[in-house]
Amino acid sequence: MLVDYHIHGMGHRDFPHSVESLARFVEAALGKGIAEVGFADHDYYLRDIRFSNFEELRTRFPGIGIKVGLEVEFFPGQETETNDRLAGCRFDYLIGSVHYIGEWLFDHPDYIEGFSAWDIDQLYRVYFGLVARMARTRLFDMVGHLDLIKIFGHRAKSPVLKMVQPTLEEIRDSGMVIEVNTAGLHRPVQEQYPAKDLLKAAFQMGIPITLSSDAHAPEQVGRDLLLAREMAREVGYREAATFSGRERIMVPL
Ligand SMILES: [Zn+2]
Ligand SMILES: [Zn+2]
Repeated sequence: MLVDYHIHGMGHRDFPHSVESLARFVEAALGKGIAEVGFADHDYYLRDIRFSNFEELRTRFPGIGIKVGLEVEFFPGQETETNDRLAGCRFDYLIGSVHYIGEWLFDHPDYIEGFSAWDIDQLYRVYFGLVARMARTRLFDMVGHLDLIKIFGHRAKSPVLKMVQPTLEEIRDSGMVIEVNTAGLHRPVQEQYPAKDLLKAAFQMGIPITLSSDAHAPEQVGRDLLLAREMAREVGYREAATFSGRERIMVPL
């Protein structure tokens, strides 16, 4: 069963949160044989989300599962504020993501210069430390793009597998799932998140996965998901995680 659990229906505020606009994403998913989609816009746009739109979409498209998530920025020390902000919202799942090191938005091409200030091995350690800290908060259901720090092709000299080990242990203990996110294939690094060896380690540790495109436009929905599924199967996965009301439901991959 093919699922795409990381879709930005508003892009970066490129599209309104309207039934008509969101329907284009659902139609694209149907065209690719996807059985379930999860909308997970950035939490910066939380106020724009109209939850009633999803009800209308479910009525209009009974042949596909439509879930409601949110991609939440993890800022260490702001756990209480984050929790308060999300209280009362009815999400099926929450993705926790790290896009910031301090005040540096490291995954944005406009700020790529920031990498030159760092020893890359040290940067990787700091990044994975933040992801581990995020897992410890128990606020989220899914880790967004586990090794995003590689986005522009800056590679650590030390083995990443070793660096990420304590983070994977925290993720396992938290009960979170990770995503095989294909967006990295279309970034300078040209590799899905996470790298295959990391995915294999996650499998061996019993960490569940889901599949996602991180689409920011309808034509990106489901992009390269078949590749992601193939890789997941190669390392041993036979099931994918889906979510309903913050509960995990495993389905055949
Ligand atoms: Zn993200
Ligand atoms: Zn995203």
